[in-house]
Amino acid sequence: MSDCIFCKIARGEIPSKKVYEDDELFAFHDIHPVAPVHFMLIPKLHVASLLEADDSHIALLGRMLVTAPKLARQQGLDNGFRTVINTGKGGGQEVFHLHIHIIGGGLIPSMMRRN
Ligand code: AMP
Ligand code: ZN
Repeated sequence: MSDCIFCKIARGEIPSKKVYEDDELFAFHDIHPVAPVHFMLIPKLHVASLLEADDSHIALLGRMLVTAPKLARQQGLDNGFRTVINTGKGGGQEVFHLHIHIIGGGLIPSMMRRN
């Protein structure tokens, strides 16, 4: 996708604070971090969201999930981290290129507030 901002970041056409790159994946720090460590892991392949993922993406998605903790550890998150995948407008997704947020290093509040 030529006009996708995350495709452009993965191609190096828009600058980013790179965390990791291999032949299939790219990771970079979020421009508006919500915790001391907050970066995104994306596939270089343009997949708009999990709603567009299908069986052809199983290996890629597995690779993303296995890579996430390795990168988290490299970023100093030895004690754990939060992963977030916002999916579609209903999931609050703003950038329509599939990405995993990897967040940690601070006080991570309980995600579901039960009253
Ligand atoms: P989401 O709401 O899951 O689609 O999250 C999109 C994320 O991308 C937000 O946390 C933004 O802060 C982040 N973001 C948008 N543009 C950039 C950029 N150029 N570099 C780094 N992060 C970005
Ligand atoms: Zn894209």
